[in-house]
Amino acid sequence: MEAASSDLAFCASDTCAALHPGQQVQFSKVRLPRKAGNCKHWINALNQAVEDKRMLMEKARHDLVEYGKKLVHANLTKGTGGNLSVFDRANGTVAITPSGIDFFEITPEDIVIVDLEGKTIEGTRTPSSEWEMHLMPYRHRTDIDAVIHAHTTYATVLAVLRQDLPPSHYMVEVAGHNVRCAPYATYGSHELAVNSYEYMKDRRAVLLANHGILAGAHDLLNAFNIIEEVEYCSHIHWMASCMGKPVILPDEEMELMAEKFKTYGQRKAKDW
Ligand SMILES: [Zn+2]
Repeated sequence: MEAASSDLAFCASDTCAALHPGQQVQFSKVRLPRKAGNCKHWINALNQAVEDKRMLMEKARHDLVEYGKKLVHANLTKGTGGNLSVFDRANGTVAITPSGIDFFEITPEDIVIVDLEGKTIEGTRTPSSEWEMHLMPYRHRTDIDAVIHAHTTYATVLAVLRQDLPPSHYMVEVAGHNVRCAPYATYGSHELAVNSYEYMKDRRAVLLANHGILAGAHDLLNAFNIIEEVEYCSHIHWMASCMGKPVILPDEEMELMAEKFKTYGQRKAKDW
């Protein structure tokens, strides 16, 4: 199959011409021609071509696309509500989902790479309007390298009531001894970023009044797991509240849960 002209490159060095007389022709950037042998010029040109095509934070881009779809499949958000990001601590860059694109239409190329100030480093899309809410934990915490914000149903019921999620179920401990509800602020505002950060201190999740939930962990798998578990616990708490007064676990028991969860390390909840 003929390669597209934009995928072609050639080695223009005299050395190459001497080594491969008559073979100094165009070749596909993505496939080294058989006759190239060990010509370092051709190999270098090929490597450079591959380098040119590489995007920053490739794996994170693919993970964000997958976890965005998972949020919808798991009924943890609706439409374009919610956003996800991953922090590359070594390079100080953040990969974040774009604003206003359906989770099933986002491609890795649509993911935006920003620095810790929110300035776009790579990408043509507009980063999520909640970018500052994502960046705050990365700037100030060392235990969070992935953040997910979603509009889940039952956690948002509590957030609309402006109630914290108490430890009525021991699995609340995936986020901490309870999940606080941060005061209301307009979506996408600096105030919402500050409120969510303050109320998530010593916790791995926070309810956003009249809005949804935010969770953070060292990777997307665990951030997703926290969203799932907090939603489950919120559902149970709501159902129990409809029938009577839920019994809340005492602090000592939640301290014990925190210890037990440490023993198992960072795992999916079903393993606990
Ligand atoms: Zn939202």
